[in-house]
Amino acid sequence: MEKNIAVIRGDGIGPEIVEEALKVLNKIAAIYGHTFNYTDVDMGGCAIDKWGDPLPEEMLKRCLASDSVLLGAVGGNKWNDVPGDMRPEKGLLRLRAGMGVYSNNRPAKIWPQLASASPLKESVVEKGIDFIIVRELIGGIYFGEHETHEEKGVLVANDILSYNEEEIERIGRIGFETARKRNKKLCSVEKSNVLDSSRLWKKVMHRLAEEYPDVELSDMLVDNCAMQIVKDPSQFDTVVTENMFGDILSDEASMITGSIGMIPSSSLGKTTCGLYEPIHGSAPDIAGMDIANPIGTILSAAMMLRFSFDMGKEASAIETAVSRVLDKNYRTADIMPSLEEEAKNCIKVGCKKMGDLICEELN
Ligand code: NAD
Repeated sequence: MEKNIAVIRGDGIGPEIVEEALKVLNKIAAIYGHTFNYTDVDMGGCAIDKWGDPLPEEMLKRCLASDSVLLGAVGGNKWNDVPGDMRPEKGLLRLRAGMGVYSNNRPAKIWPQLASASPLKESVVEKGIDFIIVRELIGGIYFGEHETHEEKGVLVANDILSYNEEEIERIGRIGFETARKRNKKLCSVEKSNVLDSSRLWKKVMHRLAEEYPDVELSDMLVDNCAMQIVKDPSQFDTVVTENMFGDILSDEASMITGSIGMIPSSSLGKTTCGLYEPIHGSAPDIAGMDIANPIGTILSAAMMLRFSFDMGKEASAIETAVSRVLDKNYRTADIMPSLEEEAKNCIKVGCKKMGDLICEELN
């Protein structure tokens, strides 16, 4: 099969981790007889520096013309003071909106080899952590009007949180469909005790539930959900929620599985052209040091193969290779056990070496 992939290396550790994912994709292409053509796309801080815009129109066009998009991460302190509309993250929001990818899917699954890296008590981890957060991605407060003005010498800032029934219904369906393929338990997370947008969210979810009688729907307030994720994550199977709540909860969920560097994500809309990226940011604190964990990006590439290219066998091969490397006790710094006793049995490797080891296991 021949596929065209738009590649956004981005800022900070982005170029390093994407390089490793491309290594793995090239290995897959060689083994399974595929051709992957890569088109470079500038987005984020590097695009601001080069083009004066975090996502020039031409770059968005390149992404829309591809079969899928692989992204490292964007942002960094260097661009902290640029105007809101020109920030690196704005490029990402425009890309998501331009591609119409309204559903972001982030698995929170503990790798048995990394159980001791979870900050949760062993008794909690032992019950299992394996759920997925389906987050609405192109609506809500991140896409509402933002403005700051002065009233009687005092600065006032407003951010509008708005959802319509159709936006809720389309992400709700993804939630129900995802739960249907898993353990048929869907938890809808909102703040209906305070917000109108959440009351509408809840109403639409319950209307949809009538079409999915095989899925057990429950409601949870977002503050309680944040608490339950650390108290007993084994209770969750599929969580569906709006943009900002999903952003925060999925970072929390990633942390309990050990490291933010391990978690991939997929973002999809009406077509199979998806956006695949690790859930972490550009980690400027460790950029250029060859210590970043590339596994979240490599697993994102695996998700791309499975969900956009219908290459399930190839995706599984990557996941198995990652598991084997962990079985052999190779660890990047972020997933080294904190206990000295356990760390003694592990071999600390850098970003490039981790990519090489995963490629070797693909053989
Ligand atoms: P971050 O996710 O970049 O980093 C948080 C912590 O996790 C840091 O200590 C970092 O070193 C560590 N970390 C992250 N990824 C890692 C990896 N692969 N391996 C090892 N350690 C890793 O979040 P932040 O520090 O809040 O944000 C840094 C920049 O990234 C900001 O400019 C932010 O806006 C941007 N950001 C971008 C995205 C994106 O591109 N999708 C997402 C979140 C944040």
